[in-house]
Amino acid sequence: MKNIGKEISDELASHHWNENYRQLIKEAFNDPDVQSLITTHRDELTNEDLKRSASKVYEFFTIKNQLKRGEATLAPGYEPKLNVVNHTLEVVYIPSQQLMAEQKIAQLHARVKLLNLPKSLRQASLADFEVAGREAAASAAADFVQQYLADPKKFHQGLYLSGSFGVGKTYLLAAIANKLAAENIISMLIHFPSFAVKLKNSIGTSQNTPLIETVKKVPILMLDDIGADQLSSWIRDDILGVILQYRMQEQLATFFSSNFSQQQLLQEYLTVNNRGEAEPLKAQRIMERIRYLSRETIMIGKNRRNQ
Ligand code: ADP
Ligand code: MG
Repeated sequence: MKNIGKEISDELASHHWNENYRQLIKEAFNDPDVQSLITTHRDELTNEDLKRSASKVYEFFTIKNQLKRGEATLAPGYEPKLNVVNHTLEVVYIPSQQLMAEQKIAQLHARVKLLNLPKSLRQASLADFEVAGREAAASAAADFVQQYLADPKKFHQGLYLSGSFGVGKTYLLAAIANKLAAENIISMLIHFPSFAVKLKNSIGTSQNTPLIETVKKVPILMLDDIGADQLSSWIRDDILGVILQYRMQEQLATFFSSNFSQQQLLQEYLTVNNRGEAEPLKAQRIMERIRYLSRETIMIGKNRRNQ
């Protein structure tokens, strides 16, 4: 193959350019990527065209080598590519494999909104879920994912995971959400007791309205640890009741996790409010919505915390 670098550097020698610069340009034109591009497009490029493109070739060569040496560049995550456009060489920057992988992960994370729950749940996966002792929950989760993805517009009952502390209820909810995220489905996982506190702290302001609207409308809602706090009538009827009513009407998939079974949740959480008043009818109405939206699955097993 004819050495284009030499040809160009001979041409450049006739210019009154700095010797150093000339040397750098020569090296740049000798780069194998540059050589092969010019060879492919030789009939579109006169020597004059190549001379005009010298700074682009130099830019390409410099950035390419900075990346090779692991140095920081002006556009982190992007790799230079030399193209022929309209009889000149142009440098375009394309996302590197690593940047694309990072962007993909960021997109996945954006599809699973975690409210007051640890970031480590982003690593939860159905594939890593240890099934032993929790076969019913594992297969209910797999069935949900499969049926939901087959027809996301249809109503699908979510799961109501009940079981004692540490059996992996929150983990399984996150694993379902992460799996759905890979298929472009948006979920929200909310630690319900913290959500209730947050709302109470800004009671009477309009600050919570956008959050409540999001919670009502998100395609997949997961209310984690329901029953772990003391419920006020306001949270029960005006927040939880309104959210669940909307999701029933709009046929949106909704999950729960609780240390209580559904029966216990009704009697020990929903019925008596934080002032000690029994409101069985109101409790019953909420429970009907929970039962409509979700199917109870009991999880048993050892406490996996701090292992
Ligand atoms: P729960 O919500 O039922 O109280 P968690 O989901 O918080 O329980 O799980 C307790 C701990 O055990 C967490 O640290 C979690 O990451 C881990 N864990 C739970 N289930 C699994 C599993 N199937 N495989 C691996 N680790 C798990
Ligand atoms: Mg939990």
